[in-house]
Parts: sequence; structure tokens; C-alpha cells
Amino acid sequence: MKTRGLFLTEPYKLKMKEVDVDKLFGDPPRSDMCVVKTAACGICGSDVSYYKGRNPWALHTLGMNLPADPHMMLGHEISGYIEDLHGATKQIEKGQRVGIIAYKECGECIDCLEGNYNLCSHCDHIGHGETLPDGTKNSWYNFEIIPGGFSDFFTCWHEKLVPLPPNINMKEATQLDGLAVSVHGANRVGIQKGGSVLILGTGPIGFLSAQVAAAYGAADVFVTDVFEKPFEQLEKVAKNWKGCTLHTINVTKDDPVDICLENTKGLGVDAVMDTIGDKSTVIPGIKSLRRGRQMIMFSGFEDKVDFNLSWLSGERIITSSCNNPFPDYPLAIKLLSQGKINIKEMITHTFKLEDYQEAFVVALHKEEHNSIKVVIEP
Ligand SMILES: [Zn+2]
Ligand SMILES: [Zn+2]
Repeated sequence: MKTRGLFLTEPYKLKMKEVDVDKLFGDPPRSDMCVVKTAACGICGSDVSYYKGRNPWALHTLGMNLPADPHMMLGHEISGYIEDLHGATKQIEKGQRVGIIAYKECGECIDCLEGNYNLCSHCDHIGHGETLPDGTKNSWYNFEIIPGGFSDFFTCWHEKLVPLPPNINMKEATQLDGLAVSVHGANRVGIQKGGSVLILGTGPIGFLSAQVAAAYGAADVFVTDVFEKPFEQLEKVAKNWKGCTLHTINVTKDDPVDICLENTKGLGVDAVMDTIGDKSTVIPGIKSLRRGRQMIMFSGFEDKVDFNLSWLSGERIITSSCNNPFPDYPLAIKLLSQGKINIKEMITHTFKLEDYQEAFVVALHKEEHNSIKVVIEP
């Protein structure tokens, strides 16, 4: 059996290749993976980062930029149908609709031994891979080719396949990965019932985090961006929120710090979720935060910031987010299935796999194309 797969041979150079699905089990072949027929795969901000020559996984997990593995198929926001059980003992059957937890912990490092699997620095993460400075691999040790979701078929560990309820659409299911990241972030910062949250950046993670905050009982959600499209879409969703008000802040016109302080009697917001992670967001983020509260960074980790330490006074905390712990994925399914999260309004573009060049251009130039989330179907 063969599959098409989208590879990044070097920055800005995507190439579609055909490979044997057998190669996606590693050598010696792993016995705990099965073949999944790709239903859809979203272009994540991480994929765009890879495309531009950065390695987001290495940045947020290892804290350094490393070259991407040229033998990696891109794509990790995936939904699919079980194609070949390949000896799976789990209760799954051929044709079953599944979402995937996209990474498998190494099980041996100190973080795994302590149960912090999302911090594992040697995990095999579908659609992610890196080459160490000495040319060796850091993960996917026995794999010549790393499976990914911009493909017809991919392989995934039995235990990471999560059956989907019938009311979840396959295209929307691709966003469960990001939704689990938002759930993890919301759990880390502790969304207060009746409290306020500032979300910096209304790309997909911001779009989902705003809804998670509303679902967790926040009364005021402030979101920022530099163009109007994400606000228009999120406003449609927020019409159905009960007891929560959405405040949109276009940072090309207004200062988020002023707006957050004005609306919180000068105290600052109860939580900040920074989905961008550079000086344009970290500084307003910490300046908008109330004493004793937390701010979380989902991405970035490269910029240098001229930081006034007094901004941390009053026990303010800045922390970061790394992947998402396994239990957050089923939690994301539950939120989506219960109708507490709207993904439909966030998916602005869908392309066929063969039109990958155009899909990446639209994902890369969001303002020009009014795009939020781009999804590819084989
Ligand atoms: Zn991602
Ligand atoms: Zn580990």
C-alpha cells in the first residue's frame, strides 16, 4: 500500500512524495501502531513555522531551534478512519472514526517517569521531527520516514486513537489537538468563575482559548489581533455565550493594557493566555495581569525582551505551555461534543491535498486571505 505524503525538503520548499505505508512503522516495525486513512488535517501554526525554517516543537519543548527532519511528513492536526488494525488489541474496528493524540512518550526519561508525558523531550510526535547539531536524531529513532497527516494514510499508536462521537464532524475533529492545548492552558492559568481573561492573538489557539475561557465561566474575555476577520468570526460564536462578554481589541488602533485596566477597576485581568510569545505580546500581557495571577505562553520562545522585573511584583507568574497532557484530549472531545465550542466558524478554508502550495500560501498570509484555519483533505 502506498500513500502520498507532504515533505518539507528545505524552508519554503514543499514536496509531495509517494511512500510505502510499511515504512511508516519503523524498522524493526513497531507492533503497537495501526494504519489510519486520513480524513482531514489542519495546517497548524507549527506547520507554518516549519515552512519558514523554524522548529516550533524543539523551541517549546527543548528550548532551542533545531533543523526540521527532512524525512518528516508534515501535519499533526488529524482525524481519520481506521484502515488496518495491525494487531490492535484495543476496542477499535476498521472504518471507525477517530481523532488522534499525536505523540507517544518515550516512557524512560525523568519527565515520563514522573508522569509529565507532555514534557518528554524524546517523544515521537506525528508530523514533527528534528535533527540534533551532531546530525543524530532526538526522537523517531528507528524511523526512516516520520508519519504525518498531509497524506492519504498515516500510522498511529493504538493507544492514541480516540473514537469520535457521531456528532463531531471529521474536519472539525482536526482541531481537537489545538483545543486540547487550549484546555491545558486554561487549566494551567486557572480560569476564575466570573473572572476576566486576556487572550493575545486570535489565531486558532486564541479563538479556541476564548471559548474555553467562556465555557469555564469567565465573565469577560478580551482578545487581540491585528485584523478584523477573527473578531468577526468569534463574535458570531460569542452571541451564544451566557454570562460572558467578548471584548475585541485591534492592537493597531487600541492598547490592550489600557482596555484591560479600564474594565477591571485598574486591577488587571485574572489570567493572560499569550498565543504569540514575542515582545509585542509578552509586555502588554504582563502589564495587564492582576497581582497573584498567571500568564501562560503557548509559543514564541525566541524573542529577547527588555523586561522590567517590577512587572512581576505582587506574585505575578509567567509560565509556558508544552504539548498537552493526554487526558486533555478526551476533555476537548467532550467540550466540542456538548456544543460548548464552535470550530466551524474558525475553519475559513479547505483545500485538496494536491493543492498544498496554495493552502500553505493562504495559511501563511492570513490578513491578505482573511484566513484563520486552513484544513487539507486528501
Ligand atoms: Zn499544532
Ligand atoms: Zn520521555
